[in-house]
Amino acid sequence: MSSDLYREQLLDHYHNPENFGVLDNADVDIEMDNPTCGDMIHLTARLDSAGRVAEVMFEGQGCVISMASASMFTEHVKGKTVQEIAAMSLTEIEQMMGGVKLSMGRVKCALLPLNAMKQGLKESGGAR
Ligand code: ZN
Repeated sequence: MSSDLYREQLLDHYHNPENFGVLDNADVDIEMDNPTCGDMIHLTARLDSAGRVAEVMFEGQGCVISMASASMFTEHVKGKTVQEIAAMSLTEIEQMMGGVKLSMGRVKCALLPLNAMKQGLKESGGAR
């Protein structure tokens, strides 16, 4: 894909995010912000009995990169185990976002949903 198409895909997620909202009775419920950019995310997720992500939703506000990453992330992590999420890196996030190479200033934006999820899983004690 050309970089224009990446950009279009990101803007599309930004304007029409997937899984936007808050889950009731969530196992993971965390808010995190990225003060360097002003991005905020509230992430909620439910795990199934096998410790896999069954449902995940987010709400928040921020730049195109952070919100597009959050939208794509909620689709990307469905069915993944806590261990798989703990092992996810920036490279996987960049691939998830269509192969973008993020500049230093944008890395924190793109990693916000992943970092929130990792922290939220830690606080929830991982799999039930
Ligand atoms: Zn940002």
